[in-house]
Amino acid sequence: MNCIKCTTKSCRTTEPCHAQKFDTSELIRTYHLPENTKIIQAAAQLVDNGRAGTLSRLQEVIEFSKTMKFQRIGIAYCYGMERESSLIATIFKESGFKTFPVSCTTGGFKQSEINPESKIQKVSCNPLAQAGQLNSESVDFTLTVGLCLGHDILFNKHIKSYSTTLIVKDRVHNHHPEVALSLAKELN
Ligand code: SF4
Repeated sequence: MNCIKCTTKSCRTTEPCHAQKFDTSELIRTYHLPENTKIIQAAAQLVDNGRAGTLSRLQEVIEFSKTMKFQRIGIAYCYGMERESSLIATIFKESGFKTFPVSCTTGGFKQSEINPESKIQKVSCNPLAQAGQLNSESVDFTLTVGLCLGHDILFNKHIKSYSTTLIVKDRVHNHHPEVALSLAKELN
């Protein structure tokens, strides 16, 4: 399937296409499982009835958390974004949530301890410890804030709660990866 090159875009008029390989009936059944319906409906409330474009990502995450009746919010953050994470924690507390911010340096592991190729004795990012700590705190929902590429993959694989990215790391473009695309468009 290559949706970009597709000339019919029939799916956008609610028609299936010949390229699809998934089992439609099975997917509909899966959507109708109560745990999935709940998420779909909470997400719809953020955008339906003309609301799309009215909430920032932060406002969406807070409202989504309220609709889902989450109480314990994990914040898995890059230590370089501690100030932003502190502000996020304050905002969530003011909205009635308990917050559990965990720095990427938790555990104090040396880089040489987790990467056999590294000789660096300084502290390492530790996404597995971040996930393990938040799993032990039984958080309902985790926000990731500026985790490094790769570390975010391990974190997402090991965190047991629902999770979403609040801030994606882009060291060059002030954490706005889309800027790179705008620049690429200007060059083309
Ligand atoms: S019709 Fe099929 S190939 Fe075309 S955009 Fe939709 S899903 Fe992709």
